[in-house]
Amino acid sequence: MLDKVMEAAGIKVFGVADYEETLPGTGFKQREMFDGIQSVIVCLIPWDTGMNEGRNMARYAVGRNYHEVAAEHLSIATEILKRAFPEDTFKFFVDSSPIAEVRAAVLAGLGVRGKNNLLISKEYGTRCAIGEIITTRKFAKSKKSVGTCFDCGKCIKVCPNGALTEKGYEKEKCVAYINQMKKELTPEDEALIKKVGFICGCDCCTDCCPMNRHADGTGLKEFKESAKPVYTPGMDLSDRSYGWKPANVERNYKIITED
Ligand code: SF4
Ligand code: SF4
Repeated sequence: MLDKVMEAAGIKVFGVADYEETLPGTGFKQREMFDGIQSVIVCLIPWDTGMNEGRNMARYAVGRNYHEVAAEHLSIATEILKRAFPEDTFKFFVDSSPIAEVRAAVLAGLGVRGKNNLLISKEYGTRCAIGEIITTRKFAKSKKSVGTCFDCGKCIKVCPNGALTEKGYEKEKCVAYINQMKKELTPEDEALIKKVGFICGCDCCTDCCPMNRHADGTGLKEFKESAKPVYTPGMDLSDRSYGWKPANVERNYKIITED
């Protein structure tokens, strides 16, 4: 039944986790939860538009805002499910979720957590957004994934600021976090942003990952048709994932372009 729903919603890869197993959640947005949750349907939304040589942003940002695209697909699936099971509650989330998404995706059999701290899926490598539908309906949970992380350590080696180590991931050291910070940057922060050369994000630990070899350009047509790999000042940001922080984008652009 779920296969047909997801096909109608244009979602090719999904799995089911038992809600109880995904706990504890993130604490974030917990007020949007409801009683009696049984299952989490985890969906992958691929966004990659290819290497786009000369881009000045991370790959996820090249196409349209992935939150919006994912929400369009997830809302179709959610509406079909609501109609099919009117006695149950269904609610979808993308990114800003009360569920720890990578963990839920692993539990739903969609892949493994790589040393780069991201979901590595068989179909899209790390190049996808994770969305989920939370429901009071009990669906059969998916089998464990046979996916893998090679444990090659390349992601740790290339990380420009030691955010990845054998012990795990330190968000505060991640350039993708630093270049989104609103607070004043230190000279060291600026040097890192310049080194990576992006107005948002950082692809070092994913472009080097052998598990992404097959995942170039696997994104949905919504992303490919809207690809703008180079930001220039004055660009319309209304449908971009980084458009909610225009001051940061402008600041980062100055940093990466000044001599
Ligand atoms: S995104 Fe960049 S800075 Fe962050 S963990 Fe990966 S390589 Fe390190
Ligand atoms: S670069 Fe190697 S160690 Fe890092 S996530 Fe990819 S396969 Fe795993």
